[in-house]
Amino acid sequence: MADVKVRGLRKSFGSTEVLHGLDLDIEEGQFVVLVGPSGCGKSTLLRMIAGLEGITEGQILINDRLVNNLPPAERDIAMVFQNYALYPHKTVAANMAFSLRMRKMNKAEIDERVSRAAEVLGLTEYLGRYPRALSGGQRQRVAMGRAIVRDPQVFLFDEPLSNLDAKLRIQMRAEIRELHQRLVTTTVYVTHDQIEAMTMADKIVVMNAGNIEQIGAPLDLYDRPANEFVAGFIGAPS
Ligand code: ADP
Ligand code: MG
Repeated sequence: MADVKVRGLRKSFGSTEVLHGLDLDIEEGQFVVLVGPSGCGKSTLLRMIAGLEGITEGQILINDRLVNNLPPAERDIAMVFQNYALYPHKTVAANMAFSLRMRKMNKAEIDERVSRAAEVLGLTEYLGRYPRALSGGQRQRVAMGRAIVRDPQVFLFDEPLSNLDAKLRIQMRAEIRELHQRLVTTTVYVTHDQIEAMTMADKIVVMNAGNIEQIGAPLDLYDRPANEFVAGFIGAPS
């Protein structure tokens, strides 16, 4: 587990600033949801924590270590994306093992990690299958498996359920929460769906137009929204 601190974080693309000086503390073991309308900067913030996007100004600390210039592979972080592309010509097992093989981990250790992740995700009997022979939910689990095998201290999810149908989405919300509990990680989860945020989060970070509007537990936001934006967004029908 790890904690993540964001200090005075700014991001510009060319001359356009899209994050305007964010401060955020993500405590060890928490399930934190970043929520806000499309284009408000959620993915950019997550990608900066992951090291996939450069920092214009400010600091990111993981376990009090400044990581501004640390490459993604050295941050003990794993990210599950919205458009998780699986390798179509690799089996489920090979899809999950791929990033470990790239790191030159030995085969026994890789096999051990893959089978452990498959067990956690209920994929054991599917390890020999190819992605085309899986359902949408199973594919999403394989995408999570690729992250889990890396044994990260921090899990980052960027709208992982947006391509699934409503029923599956509700089921997967519960699964991801369980996974967080079971693997004992710190999780930062991005969504534009306020219902998803309210049902999944220990703590919600409401973003709008490159700023953080409010940080609080779900019921705090519901009972005491800091401003009209938060009240409108949290109270809106999904
Ligand atoms: P969200 O994930 O909340 O929908 P993003 O973080 O993707 O928002 O985007 C925030 C803003 O930054 C948007 O205005 C978007 O157009 C802009 N943006 C994101 N990535 C880039 C990029 N690589 N180049 C230029 N602008 C970008
Ligand atoms: Mg996004």
